[in-house]
Amino acid sequence: MLIKDNKYTVEIEDLGHSGEGVAKIDGFTIFVAQGVPGDIVEIKITLLKKNYALGKIIKIIKASDSRVKPLCPLANTCGGCQVMHIDYKHQLKMKEKRVKDTLERIGKINTELLPIIGMENPYEYRNKAQMPVGVLDGKAILGFFKKGTHDIVDTDYCYIQAPINSEIIKLVKQYIESYKISVYDEKTGKGLLRHLVTKVAFKTGEIMVVLVTKSKKLAHTEQLVEMLLREVKGIKSIVQNINEKNTNVIMGDENIVLYGENKIVDYIGNLKFNISAQSFFQVNPVQTEILYKKALEYAELKGEERVIDIYCGIGTISLFLAQKAKKVVGVEIVESAIKDARENARINNINNAEFYTGRAEEVIPKLYENGFYAHVVVVDPPRKGCDEKVLETIVKMKPRRVVYVSCNPATLGRDLAYLEERGYKTVKVQPVDMFPHSAHVECIALLQRTNM
Ligand code: SAH
Repeated sequence: MLIKDNKYTVEIEDLGHSGEGVAKIDGFTIFVAQGVPGDIVEIKITLLKKNYALGKIIKIIKASDSRVKPLCPLANTCGGCQVMHIDYKHQLKMKEKRVKDTLERIGKINTELLPIIGMENPYEYRNKAQMPVGVLDGKAILGFFKKGTHDIVDTDYCYIQAPINSEIIKLVKQYIESYKISVYDEKTGKGLLRHLVTKVAFKTGEIMVVLVTKSKKLAHTEQLVEMLLREVKGIKSIVQNINEKNTNVIMGDENIVLYGENKIVDYIGNLKFNISAQSFFQVNPVQTEILYKKALEYAELKGEERVIDIYCGIGTISLFLAQKAKKVVGVEIVESAIKDARENARINNINNAEFYTGRAEEVIPKLYENGFYAHVVVVDPPRKGCDEKVLETIVKMKPRRVVYVSCNPATLGRDLAYLEERGYKTVKVQPVDMFPHSAHVECIALLQRTNM
């Protein structure tokens, strides 16, 4: 029996879903923050529950071969990167293993698991940063939230962001200090400047800076605009977004354009996308392109197919596929995303893509009842996976192929098993590393109908 606050020596055997180390004592699971498989560490039990315990490393007795000193000095405090203390090659191996273990354990899926596609340069890959602003001892701080809290870790440089992000941080801090700009306090709901959001279009070089404020009355914006334009090349848009609510949602509905346009433009592959302050866009454009090319490859389109893209977001996958299909129908719950999808279709002169707003579990059965069928179905659901109604209707529609894009191996395993029991076979699963140094792993799976 383990005892709280006691110390134990353990070997870290595995990685948990959030990148924490997993050790066992007499079969009892202990999650050890910052533990790396292969480490032998002395830990102190900080929390003891019925089925698991949490342990804190007191001393590393023998470091795992995969342990490295993180490039970022804030890696252990900031909640952004969970596994930067693991060598990138090993991060990839561990993600691959997690996919394999999860699919085998949850779905009993026996399939071809392809080697994970990692990044050549696993740094500076993010095109968007959303950073809360605060004050500490009278000084403006700006950065990311500390692990599991809403305390801000003051950040001057983020190693996974496009480097220009740091320049913008520096200038906005200067602006706050020079003009004594009031800073929002989440606890009291008082103060003005809430968040700094930066967006960088990797293909076009266009940059957007968004200052999220509690009310409209932001002073000295001309000086801010002048300073940003002078110091940062490529700024196409500076926007003030007003969010009056006391919520965790970062942006409000109202935008005031302080400079330039209300949007920037980027490309994924040959497709053009308009990105506004609020609109969603994939944060790792390099890996997104790889992932969506896989979706296109797995869909094996010849030009005559009808395709449904379920959970389509701003229609990125739909538009990729529309170039090779007869018709694509996208379904998505967020109305503004559908508006963006239609706009993106228009600016790319794509006329064979149609988009519907609504819950997939309601829209898809309705489409089916109205006689709609598809040769190929693509799904890209949120972490909780596909609603059973959606899977049930896919089975009824009998598409030849299902392409499943997933950000959660556990629900992927569950849903693949459901489809395998009903006439489909998982041909292959390809993991793609969309978020180096985080614990996330994305997969794309191809299923084929067995009774053709
Ligand atoms: N492929 C998309 C991203 C998909 S992310 C792109 O490239 O933009 C998952 C999407 O599912 C999100 O856009 C989310 O808003 C949407 N979603 C979540 N629950 C849903 C539901 N019940 N019905 C339809 N869409 C849903």
